[in-house]
Amino acid sequence: MDSFPRRLRALWGIRWRNIPLTAVAGIVALGLVGGVLALAFGSGSQPENAALTTASGEHKPASGAVERIDAAAAIAKESAEKKAAKEKAAAEQAERAGVAKQRAARSEQRRAALEQAAAEKKAAEKKAAARKAAERKRAAEKAAAEKAAERKRAAEKAAAEKAAEKKAAEKKAAAEKAAAAKRAPQWVLPLTSYELTGRFGQSGNNWASSHHGLDFAADTGTPIHAVGKGEIISAGWQNAYGNAIEIRHPDGTVTLYGHMSRFARTSGSVSAGDVIGYVGATGNVTGPHCHLEVRPHGGGLDDAIDPFVWLKNKGLNP
Ligand SMILES: [Zn+2]
Repeated sequence: MDSFPRRLRALWGIRWRNIPLTAVAGIVALGLVGGVLALAFGSGSQPENAALTTASGEHKPASGAVERIDAAAAIAKESAEKKAAKEKAAAEQAERAGVAKQRAARSEQRRAALEQAAAEKKAAEKKAAARKAAERKRAAEKAAAEKAAERKRAAEKAAAEKAAEKKAAEKKAAAEKAAAAKRAPQWVLPLTSYELTGRFGQSGNNWASSHHGLDFAADTGTPIHAVGKGEIISAGWQNAYGNAIEIRHPDGTVTLYGHMSRFARTSGSVSAGDVIGYVGATGNVTGPHCHLEVRPHGGGLDDAIDPFVWLKNKGLNP
């Protein structure tokens, strides 16, 4: 009994042998033509279709389709190349634009940096100028203050010197006054040039009992001096004394000067040596002289003491 695969093989082999070669070739050709036509009509252009319709023979239409395929491929390639070129150009342009932009940005940065530097320089200059002005002001103020202080010092020095000078002058004046006071005698003789003619206690025609004074004889008009500091308590006519002056001294002693020709003073304070009048011969006299009496308690004739002794006790030498 025959298996199914053997039968199938037998059938297959019969069929291959029974099919004529030409028929197979024709079928293959037809298939090719159909495929090419389908390609041509599917993607070809109008003129190519026209060429196909006009063409005669079986191989020509197949050759044109290949060319069209090549052309389409070339066109596609060219398009792709163009596109790539365009893209490349665009990319290059974009790159150039980027570079330019970067350059512009750098330029802007440089400009900004320069501007900042200029602004900083200007600010620094302004600051320096302000500092210099402040320094100048400070220096001027300092100089003015020093000048004022110097003026003040000078004024103070001048004032101090003036005060010192004044003080020194006052001191000198006081010293001179003191020296003068020291030099100035406390007591003096009534006449500087004289002759003693009548002594105290003498008796004579001119005196009622005895002589109560000391007589300094000198020419009429000879100045008579106060023997010490004191106050004139009387100046006038006193009978036997003629023109007489009485002076009371600080210790209470009274001195009397008689027989004056005229008075130089009649009142007020006197110092030792002051001229109070002049020698004369008024009153009870025999010649011009000054009669000096001394009354220690300012009393009357009973109080009178010897002027010679009294003057001697004052350090004088009549
Ligand atoms: Zn006398």
